[in-house]
Amino acid sequence: MTSIVVAMLVMGLKYMAYVLTGSVALYSDALESIVNVATAIAALIAVRISERPADRSHQFGHHKAEYVSAGLEGALILIAALLILHQAYEAWLNPRALTAPAEGLAINALAGVVNAAWAWHLIVRGRALRSPALIADGWHLFSDVATSAGVIVGLLLALTTGWMILDPMLAAVVAFHILWVGWRIIAQSMSGLMDAAVAGDMMAQIRRIIAANGNGALQIHDLRTRMAGRATFIEFHLVVPGSMSVTEAHDICDRLEEALAAEIEGAEVLIHVEPEGEAKSKGALTF
Ligand code: ZN
Ligand code: ZN
Repeated sequence: MTSIVVAMLVMGLKYMAYVLTGSVALYSDALESIVNVATAIAALIAVRISERPADRSHQFGHHKAEYVSAGLEGALILIAALLILHQAYEAWLNPRALTAPAEGLAINALAGVVNAAWAWHLIVRGRALRSPALIADGWHLFSDVATSAGVIVGLLLALTTGWMILDPMLAAVVAFHILWVGWRIIAQSMSGLMDAAVAGDMMAQIRRIIAANGNGALQIHDLRTRMAGRATFIEFHLVVPGSMSVTEAHDICDRLEEALAAEIEGAEVLIHVEPEGEAKSKGALTF
């Protein structure tokens, strides 16, 4: 909720800076903020949806709502970049002098300070909650701050040298930067939607936990993981002596599940039990 208020405040300030000056570079900055308002609303909805427990139509939960939100945010950013490029092209053809530059730049700088503080807060909270949507939002805002600072420096240069062509050039630079950010956010959310596995160090941690808690079993193999927002799905085959009772094998499964759930946040474990004839050598972890 606060995200939306902050985004609207920043958008208002940046738009005021653009109206005061008529600068396309400041326009590009303001346009990015309109995207922020829309994506802050989308992120709010995504977090609410992803927190919902599994139900009959979504039996693995709603975690991926966050990737959908991040993907949408990326798409909106790409659109904003194209709009800016269009304006920059027009200003390139007809460079114009800025009106009230000092006031405009001061207001834009104020908006940048508000954004930087909020971006920092979002990234810290996103990391703590393991929320891709929040982290994506935070980095996106930081990219806004960086481009805003660049725009201010560039416009100061344009004003001191009188090269007003710098204004559309800066807007184009902002647009290309935004294109890159949008692309990165889309690529990350696509990777999540495509069932990305956990990172190498977490995979090593999972194997360590299994190795430490699998006594009684012979080996595990076909270990697979996939992440969905805050949930981590882990599955593998557990090979036990064929003469072991179902109850004994199930006790080992419970022990492994509890150990994984205790150390891996959001772990959801599924174990397939097999007799020794099914043992594999490739990718196996032997006890
Ligand atoms: Zn198997
Ligand atoms: Zn069970």
